[in-house]
Amino acid sequence: MLTLSHEPPENPNGQPLPIRRTPAKGSLTATVTADKLLGTNTHFWGGRTTPCTQPTCEACDAGTTWRWHAYVSAIEFLTSTHFLFECTAAAAHEFVHFAHERGTLRGCTFRATRCNTRINARVIIETHLYTGKPTDLPPEPNLVLALARLWNIPANQITTPEAKEIQQAISVLDAQIAAKRHFLTPQPNGPRP
Ligand SMILES: [Zn+2]
Repeated sequence: MLTLSHEPPENPNGQPLPIRRTPAKGSLTATVTADKLLGTNTHFWGGRTTPCTQPTCEACDAGTTWRWHAYVSAIEFLTSTHFLFECTAAAAHEFVHFAHERGTLRGCTFRATRCNTRINARVIIETHLYTGKPTDLPPEPNLVLALARLWNIPANQITTPEAKEIQQAISVLDAQIAAKRHFLTPQPNGPRP
């Protein structure tokens, strides 16, 4: 199918959102554009962070350790960069707390720093509510698609809690429809329902 549009898109290049982490020196200040964070176990494999794809995972087979990482989309107004922010589970607790208080992570302005200048030093995240114009926040990107592009994994091979819920609801409906069909189908040797 070909889709034409009257308006230029927000992101005209179709480029994946670049990945950014907390710098070793200085800080990163940005505002989250996603409603919820997404996270998964990852390996440092082939010189980069890649997701664990259990039950079939090359990195696991090689005995590589894993670490859970969180991902959110965020905008750095200083450089107008819309990017994917990666942080550890410990650092992500501040995001979880913010989302719990506010009902969404979107509009969470955060400042990420490290407790010392080592590249893998513990990350400290401070959050506060975005006070700028709501229209200045870019629309929420599809985080699943952004991660699929980042890791070069087909989006249909990625499962989220929401997708699992939908899948479960569909299987319940399927079971109900099958039961109804069975009830309505005349049985050749039996009485009609
Ligand atoms: Zn793995």
